[in-house]
Amino acid sequence: MINAYIGLGSNLGNRRLYVRKAVDLLKHSGDMVVEKTSSIYETDPVGGPAGQCKFLNGVVKIKTSLKPDVLLKRLQGIEQSLKRKRTIKNGPRTIDLDILAYGNKKVKTSDLCIPHPRFTERDFVLKGFCEVAPGFIHPMLGESVKSIYKKVKKENKACRS
Ligand code: AMP
Repeated sequence: MINAYIGLGSNLGNRRLYVRKAVDLLKHSGDMVVEKTSSIYETDPVGGPAGQCKFLNGVVKIKTSLKPDVLLKRLQGIEQSLKRKRTIKNGPRTIDLDILAYGNKKVKTSDLCIPHPRFTERDFVLKGFCEVAPGFIHPMLGESVKSIYKKVKKENKACRS
């Protein structure tokens, strides 16, 4: 069994319900155990069409025997069962499930990039990740999620001042 970290996001419809349902579906999906769930944060959308609603985001730590590609298919099945539609790129979605990290494995195929390339840029993902696994070492950066989060927070503060 490998520790994997799943990012959740919703900005369409009953966002809290979709996030809760997604966690329930993960729990009942088989071949995985949900070990920890972060708090849920409300965040501004990054990219995509103007005027879309804010997101609710969170991070879940699972233990799984599924290989990364099979885990991705499983997550996409959950997205579909929660009425996720892929119409506009970065558009509103009932639920988005991303594999943020899968143990210390690095994956780069046409369908899958692990660790997720953008999670270290997004302080809300790092915040949730820190809640479930602050000591997780990013396989490419060789740094803990806690320390990456500290740096990103500092940079964001400097940008605002
Ligand atoms: P999204 O619109 O965020 O659901 O992502 C669209 C595509 O990203 C999917 O079709 C996946 O094949 C691809 N993808 C690449 N890396 C990942 C990852 N780490 N987790 C989830 N999806 C990924």
